[in-house]
Amino acid sequence: MNNDTICALATANGIGALGIIRVSGDNALPIVQKSFPAKKLEKQKSHTLHYGYFMDGEEAIDEVMLSLFLAPKSFTTENSVEIAFHGSPHIGKRILETLIKNGARMAKAGEFTLRAFINGRIDLSQAEAIADVIASENEASRKVAINQLKGGITNEISLLRTDLLNFVSLIELELDFAEEDVEFADRTALKGLLDKIELKLNSLIESFQYGNAIKNGTAVAIIGKPNAGKSTLLNALLKEERAIVSNIAGTTRDTIEEVLHIKGHAFRLIDTAGLRDTVDEIEAIGVKKAKEKVENADILVYLADAATENFSEDIEMIQSLLREDLKLIICATKIDEVVPTQYEAVEDIFRNAITHEFDFIKISAVENQNIQDLKNELSSYVEQLKSAENNVVITNQRHFEALQKSLDAVDKVKEAISIQISTELLAYELRNALEHLGEISGEVTNDEVLGNIFSKFCIGK
Ligand code: GDP
Repeated sequence: MNNDTICALATANGIGALGIIRVSGDNALPIVQKSFPAKKLEKQKSHTLHYGYFMDGEEAIDEVMLSLFLAPKSFTTENSVEIAFHGSPHIGKRILETLIKNGARMAKAGEFTLRAFINGRIDLSQAEAIADVIASENEASRKVAINQLKGGITNEISLLRTDLLNFVSLIELELDFAEEDVEFADRTALKGLLDKIELKLNSLIESFQYGNAIKNGTAVAIIGKPNAGKSTLLNALLKEERAIVSNIAGTTRDTIEEVLHIKGHAFRLIDTAGLRDTVDEIEAIGVKKAKEKVENADILVYLADAATENFSEDIEMIQSLLREDLKLIICATKIDEVVPTQYEAVEDIFRNAITHEFDFIKISAVENQNIQDLKNELSSYVEQLKSAENNVVITNQRHFEALQKSLDAVDKVKEAISIQISTELLAYELRNALEHLGEISGEVTNDEVLGNIFSKFCIGK
């Protein structure tokens, strides 16, 4: 590992009360020292704070505070200095320029965290968790990321991996004594362990659906005939949290997603562009567009105007949109306009026509009736994805894939045992399983994977 000294802005690039620049590497102290005459840095203790001017030659650039972290007790395990300056982007730029003049170089994306990983301070899943913590936008994603940062997934897996490693050693010992036909590794115990590993892997794999909901939000499509009340409902749903609603410009020009938070989980309301201006939606966008919307959705909220008489078009529409794994919520809207017997009848009509399971909610967006029921229903969709026994949740595609490969490999080992395969081949399959399990924590890795992970970080992380 190259321990040349790197520097980067660690805070967001913009005006703030303070900004922080990180410097890390073998020469971090002498490089900063060139611009910090106030104190002899090499005489200072680790984890101390130092006040003074940051100089570019004779010129004082800013009044700063230095935090000193000496190897190995720093984030990267290298000598590190954090420079807190007055948060002007211009000052930040001048300090970085001066540090580079003094012998540092700009860090690459994720390079601080990469060093922390390479130097053994954190494992790979923890490095990834740092990116997730920084990116977390709600309670659920923050909790999962912090849990992973504490070593959640790795702890679960490395215990099993260590047990498996013991077996591999025994089996390899058998290979050394091949002529004597001895069996050091108890096959029944090995099978028991493999069952345990399989169970764990399966439950982690299953948690990915919940992990995905946490990380990316649950996609909700609101569909209904023109005038069914879609935009009114959208406004009612978003009203209370206007302040935290964000518009995400999608890939296509007119795709707009608004995000609704319910009990700490994010719900992405898919393509609400048309809803804002009471466009005659189904006619204007057509069934094809509605299908596209629903294709990307986890939940379909279908609105039917309770004040109308004929629901055959609604039923047809729903049936053309349904998918096995789609959660369907049918809302009878505008119930303030009709008497209860009428909206009860509406429910019966849908119950008789649609066999797919659905929840039926009667709402009035104008009078804010039962909107909370709808929110609860959305929220319960995410809650039921949460597995009771698993407090570690997989949110990362790479982990998901490694877990699946591990599971396949474990299956192969089990099969190998059951057909009493040769010890050589059994050892090979076991090694394969170990390798995949090790990929998650980074115990087994390659440069390409690392490059791919860390290039997604931003500079300064
Ligand atoms: P969209 O075309 O599906 O987006 O429907 P809108 O939300 O624009 O609503 C169409 C009309 O129905 C508007 O005049 C709304 O004020 C009215 N409307 C929507 N929801 C309700 C409701 O819950 N109660 C009543 N009485 N009118 C509603």
